[in-house]
Amino acid sequence: MGVEETVTRTDAETVHSVADGRAGRVALVTGCSSGIGRELALRLHEGGYRVFATARRPETLEGLTGKGIGTLELDVTDGASVDAVVASVRAAAGRIDLLINNAGYGAMGPVVEMPLAEVVRQFDTNVYGVVRLVQACAPLMRGQGGGVIVNIGSCSGILPTPFSGVYCASKAALHALDEVLRMELAPFGIQVMSVQPGAIESSFGDNAEASLARTLPPESMYAALREQILRRARASQSHPTSTAQFVTTLIAYLDRERLPPVVRIGKGHLGMPLLRLLLPARVREWLLGRVFGLRRARGAET
Ligand code: NAP
Repeated sequence: MGVEETVTRTDAETVHSVADGRAGRVALVTGCSSGIGRELALRLHEGGYRVFATARRPETLEGLTGKGIGTLELDVTDGASVDAVVASVRAAAGRIDLLINNAGYGAMGPVVEMPLAEVVRQFDTNVYGVVRLVQACAPLMRGQGGGVIVNIGSCSGILPTPFSGVYCASKAALHALDEVLRMELAPFGIQVMSVQPGAIESSFGDNAEASLARTLPPESMYAALREQILRRARASQSHPTSTAQFVTTLIAYLDRERLPPVVRIGKGHLGMPLLRLLLPARVREWLLGRVFGLRRARGAET
């Protein structure tokens, strides 16, 4: 038997066993109206999962329904909505093998001027939303003997930058929760993987820019830096990693028996953590201050 033949057969067997392993596995994904969540729903479905894709606005899911994907309305900030969705999936499929907490957005703007209601909204979505879903799904996973929870964090949670403080804080909080959930849920066969994307192509920049309209006051202390603030809101969409590439890499991890605790994927996923690790705080903050033009902020007063 030649090497080529051996390799071909091994690959075919691998593909076969991966497809077998996924067949019938039930996945629940949040935030599927666009970007990463939508691509995940499509690709998991193509890969053999029974997918339940969710979004706040059901009309955004019509394209997925047409492909045979289960779709449900879900606002992660609404506990009743979370409970109803988990009950619906349980009634329809009897189990949830994979929960992907993807829904989220970036509240951008200087921390000192961020309306408290927006800070609360940011944490309600990016942090408490995840807690709601985990609390609703974990008992079901425990009863079925295990499951996988994937929480979409961010490299921004590792390297906080000016004008994105509340978003970065929400993702840092999520990363801390991931660590504890991993330890607390391991005895029940539930694995928790923290996915920390770099810059990925999606509607994130548009939504982040829209958040500025709610948060940045016309008389901002940082009026001189409006351009930099806007640039930070849109930063992830400047030459990002494609959604397809990101999702391909993520899904490959899901086929492993034992998931890695933390996975970083996409543009900047090495550089941002390295800057955090290697540069002393003073140097890092001086550098970021220069990049974001903070010395010019005082110019707005004169
Ligand atoms: P996106 O295209 O804007 O998608 C975000 C999704 O979250 C949308 O479906 C949005 O729904 C949904 N969402 C927001 N608030 C929600 C709520 N209260 N309830 C339910 N769904 C809600 O951006 P994305 O890049 O794919 O974002 C997905 C995740 O990746 C987020 O957690 C984000 O923080 C993270 N991330 C993204 C990047 C990046 O560069 N793109 C980098 C790091 C981390 P609506 O359409 O209703 O708003």
